[in-house]
Formats: sequence, C-alpha cells, structure tokens
Amino acid sequence: MKYDFIVVGHGLAGAILAHTLRRQGRSVLVIDKPKPDSASNVAAGLVNPVAGKRFAKSWRVDEFLPAADTFYKALEAHFGQELYIHKPIYKIFSSIEEQNTWMAKSAGSNWSEYILGTYTQSLAQPTIQDPYGGIMIGRGGYLLVSEMLQLLAAELLAAGLLLPERFDMAQLQLTDEGVQYKNITASQLVFCEGYQVVHNPYFAWLPLQPTKGEVLEVQTQNFNPECIYNKAVYVVPVGAGLFRIGATYNWRTPDEQPTREGEQELTERFSQITSQSYTVASHKAGIRPAVRDRRPLAGRHPRYAQLSVFNGMGSKGVLMAPYLAEHVATALTSGADVMPEVNISRYFSLYYDYINHQNLQP
Ligand SMILES: Cc1cc2nc3c(=O)[nH]c(=O)nc-3n(C[C@H](O)[C@H](O)[C@H](O)COP(=O)(O)OP(=O)(O)OC[C@H]3O[C@@H](n4cnc5c(N)ncnc54)[C@H](O)[C@@H]3O)c2cc1C
Repeated sequence: MKYDFIVVGHGLAGAILAHTLRRQGRSVLVIDKPKPDSASNVAAGLVNPVAGKRFAKSWRVDEFLPAADTFYKALEAHFGQELYIHKPIYKIFSSIEEQNTWMAKSAGSNWSEYILGTYTQSLAQPTIQDPYGGIMIGRGGYLLVSEMLQLLAAELLAAGLLLPERFDMAQLQLTDEGVQYKNITASQLVFCEGYQVVHNPYFAWLPLQPTKGEVLEVQTQNFNPECIYNKAVYVVPVGAGLFRIGATYNWRTPDEQPTREGEQELTERFSQITSQSYTVASHKAGIRPAVRDRRPLAGRHPRYAQLSVFNGMGSKGVLMAPYLAEHVATALTSGADVMPEVNISRYFSLYYDYINHQNLQP
C-alpha cells in the first residue's frame, strides 16, 4: 500500500488537513485512535472574530474567516447536512469601565464589518442580565465539530483510508523515499495528535502547553436561542432548549476528568448572564493543544523532512484550521516553506537543546 501522505490523528487538525490534501488530489491514509474526550469532541466549536477582554480582532481573521466559511459550506454541500451555524454573538459588558474601553477602542477601528451594533443600555430581554449593554458581533457562529468528524471519518473508513487504531511508533521506519509503517509506504507523514504530541519522540521538544477545558450542556426554557452570549463564559444554543456553556482554562492538571470546581466555575459565570433555572445535561473535559506564543505549530522536522506536524490550534481551531490546512498542504506538496508565524522553525533552538540534553544525533 502506497500513499502520498499518512496523517496521524483525526481531530479537527488532522481531519481538515487530510480532507484538504485529498481535495488537492493527494492519496492519504489516516491513522486515528478514536477518543470521545479529545479536544475536538468536547469543543464548543465557537468562531468569534472579536475575542478577549481587550476587544482585539482575532489574529488574521480577515483571511481565516472567509476560508473557514468556504470550507465548512463546501462540507455541508458535500454531506447534505448543516454543520456550521452562523449566529450573532452578544458580548455583554461586565462594567461601565468595560463599556468605556470598548467605546475608546472601537472609535476609528477597521473592524466595523464584524460589529452589528453597540448597546450602552440593556437590551431589556427578560431572561438576560446586561445592565451595561454590550456589543453584537456578526460573522461568528459555531461548528458541530464532533458531527463533522464523524462524517469525515465514516467517509474515509468506507474508502479504506482510515485505520482506527493507535499509531505504533516502533513500527515507523524512515527511508530515502519517505516512510514505511508496517506494510504501508508514504512519501510524507504528518502528525496531528493534538496535545498527545508531547509523547512523540520526534516532536516532544515543541513548546506545547496542554490546557484543560471543561464545558457543560444545560437544559433551560425561555432563553433566546437566536444568539450566542458571552460574559466570562460563552453560552451557545445548540437546539432543543440545550445550551453549551464553556469553557474553563486549567494549566495545572492536564487530565480529562470533569471536576466539581469546573462545574462550579461555569455555573457561577452562567448565573451572571441569566437567573433562569436549568438542569445540567452533560459535563465534559478535554485538553487543548495550546502554544506559548498562541500560534499554531506547522512544518517539517528539522532533520527528517519526510516528517511534519500540524498542531497547536489552541482555543481557535475552528477558525484557523481551514486556511492553515490549505496553506500547509500546498507547502508540503510543493516543497515551499510554511509561513513563518506558524512554522516550527521558530522553535528549532529547542530541538537542538533537546537532542543535546538526550545525547542524540542531530
Ligand atoms: C473545553 C474546550 C472547549 C473548546 N472550545 C473551542 C471553541 O469554542 N472553538 C474553537 O475553535 N476551539 C475550541 N477548543 C479548542 C479545539 O478543540 C482545539 O483547537 C482542536 O480541537 C484541536 O484539534 P486537534 O486535532 O489538534 O487535537 P485533538 O482534538 O486532540 O485530536 C487529536 C486526535 O489524534 C488522535 N491521536 C493522538 N495520538 C495518536 C496516536 N499516537 N495514534 C492514533 N491517534 C492519535 C486522538 O485520539 C485524537 O482523535 C476547545 C477545546 C476544549 C478542550
């Protein structure tokens, strides 16, 4: 069996890269051990063009957003199923100071296409607590990540292009032509293992910061599902009276166990948005592959050019992955360089420290 690419990992990063490579006419085999609590499977799937307390436009959003819109729309047409739901995001001001910060920042900004409205007073919706008003952000929404991955995996499986098993590093051989894995050969192999790249002997030197996140799904009535709400947490309406609330950030305990503290943090923050009663329908935790400089990790290994990585999507994988997958797939097939901001070459000094420390050959 001979392929252009082996892709290890079928989370958001691997799935979008594999699909993009196939669309570009490359033959691809995916190896993925399904993981119900992977970051991709628990993610809220949100896309927010104006994020954070400092009201900053998301990095390269003007390029990433059109690419994400086009990619997910094409997938919807391909599978005949809605996957990417556009919804306005009501960012509620938490104080007069925050309202002032926004007013000052928004004056003369170049992001008006993302803002549907600014409200200095409450919208007066009976179920929402917004005494200082907020901003309505447009062009955002959420992706049904888990559903999309299932559709893509089923398609690969039916075509015999997905091995649903753990990748066994001991079976990997690097050859002059590329790689050999069991009885499979490929010109290139791309690791898309999410935070589990920390166990990968070829890429363990990358500065990944596994970041635990917890999300709740709550059932509640009388809550307007026409927009996503954001004030310390996101509240994403996912249908049938269900709302996804997330997420926490925890760097200390990188495990996938939902905790009482996580639930408490989310419910307390939710209670700042609404006093409606609700029941908790589910509580999940996953680990984000975050990076120190908040930029993804992509590109070829410093020594073994047949090995590459596509990872480090942090908390913005849904927005960034389609554009970056197209860019990385093109670079890997044409031999061009990956763009410097995401290229792992920015961390090559860590690789040399790592091999010196381990007394390995460079
Ligand atoms: C609580 C939470 C909420 C989030 N909310 C959002 C959000 O609203 N919007 C957003 O854009 N992002 C969000 N994120 C972040 C987003 O989930 C990640 O950026 C993205 O899913 C990372 O995808 P990935 O493919 O790199 O990793 P993963 O999702 O971890 O996928 C990696 C895959 O590789 C497989 N794998 C790993 N090692 C091996 C191996 N050796 N052999 C075989 N298979 C292997 C795993 O089983 C898994 O299937 C959230 C994350 C969390 C945890």
